[in-house]
Amino acid sequence: RAVNYRHAYHAGNFADVVKHATLALVLDHLRAKDKPIAVLDTHAGIGRYDLQAIEAEKTGEYRDGILRVIDRPHPALAPYLGVVADMNPGRPTPRLYPGSPELIVRLTRPADRIHLAELHPEDAAMLAAAYRGDPRVSVVHQDGYIALKALLPPEPRRGLVLIDPPFEVTNEFERLARGLRHAHRRFATGIYVLWYPIKDRPPVAAFHKDLAESGIRRVLTAELLLRPDNDPERLNGCGLVVVNPPWQLDATLEDLYGWLRDRFGASKSGRATVRMLVPE
Ligand code: SAM
Repeated sequence: RAVNYRHAYHAGNFADVVKHATLALVLDHLRAKDKPIAVLDTHAGIGRYDLQAIEAEKTGEYRDGILRVIDRPHPALAPYLGVVADMNPGRPTPRLYPGSPELIVRLTRPADRIHLAELHPEDAAMLAAAYRGDPRVSVVHQDGYIALKALLPPEPRRGLVLIDPPFEVTNEFERLARGLRHAHRRFATGIYVLWYPIKDRPPVAAFHKDLAESGIRRVLTAELLLRPDNDPERLNGCGLVVVNPPWQLDATLEDLYGWLRDRFGASKSGRATVRMLVPE
């Protein structure tokens, strides 16, 4: 199967802001404790993006994303926007945008370990080139779900797994839930962050049901909807699943996503919904 999705067209869009701000909060929590961590990013992309590149300018999605949140930002965006600022010294409007690998690399410490998987051959090569000089990072050109099985449990046995697939195939929700179940069996104490699109509600409802019946506990879902979730052809919102969420992440995300909803100019049906899908 060919990999067609190219994240460069979507870098910095509203869904990236939601995902990357949440990822940065979780990394910030993990590094607060003086113990090394391992981070696995199963669908890593190329690492960093140029918002003035042809791809990003072609869609202009970043204008309705990152550019909407940099003035008078919400306090919970601090770890995320700190990385954006560090990548763009002297520029009030960012040109370079961090993908998940860049956030991970910049929000971890010398003793931490980082595993990045990417299936697209060119993207995997760019990713490897971007982090060649960092001895903490290993890049595998491999299916992310296979990497998940191969690399868990990680060493050290504390850390984070990000699963951020492109949703190009119709059964991605099933693959995502299955991937999480397998991974959780190997590494039950890890924090997992999963991203998913919200177009229309039925596939999301089925995914939540699947997760609720998985036997996994402490499952948080956090969604930001900008438009009614009734159009299977349109990205109307997005959600994150966080397994083993840090203490009070739910309250922080509820406040942050409500703020993002307003900044992104959501329609009347826009809403932020954070809930414990499965408690302790
Ligand atoms: N996580 C990245 C970030 O936040 O910057 C963005 C990832 S993008 C949504 C999804 C990526 O998955 C694309 O770069 C695509 O080439 C890659 N991909 C597609 N199928 C894959 C697979 N089976 N395993 C690993 N990567 C895959």
